[in-house]
Amino acid sequence: MNEFVYTTIGRIVVDLAFVVLVILAIFFTITFLISLIIALSFKRGKVYFPRLMLFGISVLEGVVRPTLRLFSIDSSSVDRIGIELRNRVSLPRLQAVPKNKRAVFFPQCLRSKECPARLTPEGVECIGCGRCEIGKAKKVSEKEGYKVFIAPGSSVIKRMIKKYDIKGVIGVACNREVREGLELCGSYGIPTLGIPLTRDGCVETLLDWREFYEVIEELG
Ligand code: SF4
Repeated sequence: MNEFVYTTIGRIVVDLAFVVLVILAIFFTITFLISLIIALSFKRGKVYFPRLMLFGISVLEGVVRPTLRLFSIDSSSVDRIGIELRNRVSLPRLQAVPKNKRAVFFPQCLRSKECPARLTPEGVECIGCGRCEIGKAKKVSEKEGYKVFIAPGSSVIKRMIKKYDIKGVIGVACNREVREGLELCGSYGIPTLGIPLTRDGCVETLLDWREFYEVIEELG
C-alpha cells in the first residue's frame, strides 16, 4: 500500500514538473521571439507587428528588458520604443477624434524660469509672453481646435479630460511620465500620442519642437 502511494505521488510530482517546464519553455520562447522582433524593429527603424510588440513591452517587460540588453539596447531605448509603438497604434484612432475633443498637455518644467503665468485649477495659464515656445505652440494648437493645458500633475490631466470630455490626447513629458500617461489614458480608452522631452529635469527642460509641430501636422 505504502509503495503504491509513494509511486503515485512521485508520478504526480514528475508530471507537474513536466507541465511547469513546458509552460516555462513556451513562455520564454514567445518572449524571446517578441524580443527579437522588437530588436529587429529597433535596428531597422521600422515597427513590425505593433500590437504584438506593445503586448511584449507592456506585459512581458520584466523579461523583455534583460533579453534586449543582450542586443545592447538599454532601458531608456526600450521606453522610447514602447512610446513609439503605442504612438503607432494610437495614431489612426486619434486622427478619427474631432479636433475640438483633443487636448495637448505640456509639463510645467518646459516653461521659462521667468514664466509670469498663474497657477489655476486648469493648470498653469500661459499668457504667451514669448519667454518660451509654449506660447507659440499653444496658439498653433488652439488654432487647430485643440484644448491646451500646462499640467503640474496627473490630477489636472484627469480633471480636464473629464471636464472637457476629451477623447484624444497629445502628451509631452519625460520618458517615464509619457509612458505612465499613455497607460493612464489607455485605461480610459483614450488614444494618446506621447512626445518625450529631449532633456528632462525640474526646470527649463527641452523638447524637439519640430517633432511637436510635425505631430500636429500629421494628425491633420
Ligand atoms: S510663453 Fe507662456 S508658458 Fe512660456 S514663459 Fe510665457 S507665459 Fe510662461
